[in-house]
Amino acid sequence: MAHKITSKCTACGTCLPECPVECISEGNIYVINADACIDCGACANVCPVDAIVAE
Ligand code: SF4
Ligand code: SF4
Repeated sequence: MAHKITSKCTACGTCLPECPVECISEGNIYVINADACIDCGACANVCPVDAIVAE
C-alpha cells in the first residue's frame, strides 16, 4: 500500500512540504516513492485537485 499521484497533478507543489518522510519528488507531475511512503494521507489532504489516491 502506498499513495500515488495521478496525471491530474498540476505540479503546484502544495503536497511536497507536507510529507513527513520526504518521499515526494518534483517533476512535470509530482511522484511519490512508494517504497518510502508510510500511507499517512497528509499529501492527499492538501492536494487542491485531488490528484493523490490511495491504492
Ligand atoms: S501518504 Fe504520507 S508518507 Fe505517503 S507520500 Fe503522502 S504525505 Fe508522504
Ligand atoms: S498538491 Fe496535488 S496538484 Fe499539487 S503537486 Fe501535489 S499532487 Fe500535484
